[in-house]
Amino acid sequence: MDDLVLRSLTRSFPSGGGVFDISLTVQSGEFLVLLGPSGCGKTTLLRLIAGLEFPDSGEIQIGEANEASNKTHRESIAMVFQNFALYPHMTLFQNIAFPLKLRHVAREETERRVKESAAKAGLTVDLKRFPRELSGGERQRVALARALVREPEIILMDEALASLDAQLRASLRLELKEFQRRTGRTFVYVTHDQVEALALADRLVVMRKGRVEQVGGPQEIFDCPQSEFVGTFVGNPPMNVFLAEKASTSGSLTVNGVDFKIKPPEGSPAEIRVGIRPNDLSTEEGQGRGSIEVVVGSVEFSGATYIVYAKLGDSPICTELPRRVEVGARLKLFFDTARVHLFDPSTGKRLEPA
Ligand code: ATP
Repeated sequence: MDDLVLRSLTRSFPSGGGVFDISLTVQSGEFLVLLGPSGCGKTTLLRLIAGLEFPDSGEIQIGEANEASNKTHRESIAMVFQNFALYPHMTLFQNIAFPLKLRHVAREETERRVKESAAKAGLTVDLKRFPRELSGGERQRVALARALVREPEIILMDEALASLDAQLRASLRLELKEFQRRTGRTFVYVTHDQVEALALADRLVVMRKGRVEQVGGPQEIFDCPQSEFVGTFVGNPPMNVFLAEKASTSGSLTVNGVDFKIKPPEGSPAEIRVGIRPNDLSTEEGQGRGSIEVVVGSVEFSGATYIVYAKLGDSPICTELPRRVEVGARLKLFFDTARVHLFDPSTGKRLEPA
């Protein structure tokens, strides 16, 4: 199978929305997730890849096949929509067989391929039934089976699990990932749910305002966000970010007068944005650790941990702790200075400490 290559793709709408100058290579067999807030252009990019939308400039290529010149482009791609887009008046069999009917595939072959696809998608209900008789999860499987029936190399999914309940989403997510591993198919999957994105992706593309903000493995994106936007968008509860000043005597960064024991890079601005993830703050002292004192404002039980909302001076700060703490308590929190992220306040870009 061939890689899917996007080169400087731009599609702009009069509203100012769209996607701008996107270059990406999706490797064969890869699970690529497009992640970003509502309106950042994820669906537009997916529709461009599907050939449902045409770029103003740039090109899409699958191996040697060019979008404009070669019909194999459409043939090798199938898309699953958020609302599944099933035909209500057709049986499940007819829905799944529909792409084959359009291609005048013979009856026996249609029958074989529909059954195979339904099995691959984990669809166990009678195919003579109608979509209205199915649960959301079953409809999702029909939509997947319909995508698979064409035997595409690349499967595009747009918020495909968004309308399902949390438990079903989690189990279908596992199945989807397992399916991808088993079949070696390439997936491009759109979501605004960062938990889903981190769970599914081999590589993540974080988008913002129609542009790619960062591409990388989930761990890399989480541990080393290249911008404040990525740092705060990926991770839940979100990363704490403060405005820090350079102390004139020690040269290290202070937040509300508290020394963070981190030296900013040479030539960096006088003020720097400092980020710490809630789970990187703990009540346990350790070597090479900075410390801060906070006052607890409220506590939420999350099941496995307690999410603590506190104040560092005037600034809100969130931490995730293994045990309950009292509202109003003063807490000393410790952090590994190597886990602190620095961002340029004017560009939002990551800075490496000195
Ligand atoms: P969501 O998560 O809400 O689906 P998204 O990241 O998928 O959002 P898109 O649907 O790609 O975002 O939309 C990107 C921007 O382009 C939005 O500002 C949207 O209003 C605009 N847009 C998308 N399609 C069109 C269109 N056909 N005509 C005009 N503007 C459009």
